Amino acid sequence: MFNLTARHAEAYSQETFRCGNCNRDFSAKVITWVDVSRTPQVKQSLLTWRFNVIQCTSCGCRQFAETPFFYEDFHEGLLVAVFPKIPDSRGQVEAAIKEKYGYYPVLEYFYDMTQIWTLLRFQSHYGSNKHLKQLSRMGTGEERLRKFLKFLKEDSLMIDIRERLTESLVGDATDDDMTELLNKAMYKMEEMLPWPLDRRCICGGDLLKDFTCCGKRVRLVYQEQLLSHHYAMYCPSCKEPLSEASCPDCGRVYTWKLGTVQSYDRKNRQGVIKPEASLDFKVDPRMNISDH
Ligand SMILES: [Zn+2]
Ligand SMILES: [Zn+2]
Ligand SMILES: [Zn+2]
Repeated sequence: MFNLTARHAEAYSQETFRCGNCNRDFSAKVITWVDVSRTPQVKQSLLTWRFNVIQCTSCGCRQFAETPFFYEDFHEGLLVAVFPKIPDSRGQVEAAIKEKYGYYPVLEYFYDMTQIWTLLRFQSHYGSNKHLKQLSRMGTGEERLRKFLKFLKEDSLMIDIRERLTESLVGDATDDDMTELLNKAMYKMEEMLPWPLDRRCICGGDLLKDFTCCGKRVRLVYQEQLLSHHYAMYCPSCKEPLSEASCPDCGRVYTWKLGTVQSYDRKNRQGVIKPEASLDFKVDPRMNISDH
């Protein structure tokens, strides 16, 4: 099933498929290995679900091939064996791959296309958002990549992302719904906290002391009454929305997108955490995780 050949930008295999519509067999070429550091356009076809889509030669019907493939990102030192469906002898297959490709800095197995899709969305978001890069506590390079992978494999939010994706493929969910979910995922991975109205970090640091973006201090017009989860300020230089701030002393990150608390100081903590029922970004379309 697997074409275990040497390293290359792309490898293909000619295979026989049965059409789900007319039930006839047909032959089609599918990608079995792709290095996205050399063929970055493949990322787009994965994000738009056009990757390994085959067409029946009898009736013209299109379907997803569901054949496994290797997703390589040479620059990131990543190799993922992607199985759109769980193979029968999963343990043996994994062992064989590990024996052959165990020299990759990061070797991973995905058993769901949602995982590769979500990984690409995370990477593109972190690649384009300067403010987030500056606040991020996820590190860079391999450190961050491993945190993404942990989330993709273990976090319960992946169930929601998978459901929402299925809905959006049949046209039942909007892109806003998906953006909201991906933002939630990001807050979770970054371990962000609800915003304290007294602007003091758990450690006592002043959250507005070093409010910067693009290397410059942003003068913040702080209006408590505006701190709903809809609210965002914008960096005058890069125009990115600013709705998070990090503590200059300990680095913890806070956002009012997760709701607000009165204070993290035990002495004047009167209110309890009141997270918003759901995060709503419709008012603020620029708060998108999207590909630019
Ligand atoms: Zn057909
Ligand atoms: Zn900026
Ligand atoms: Zn702090």
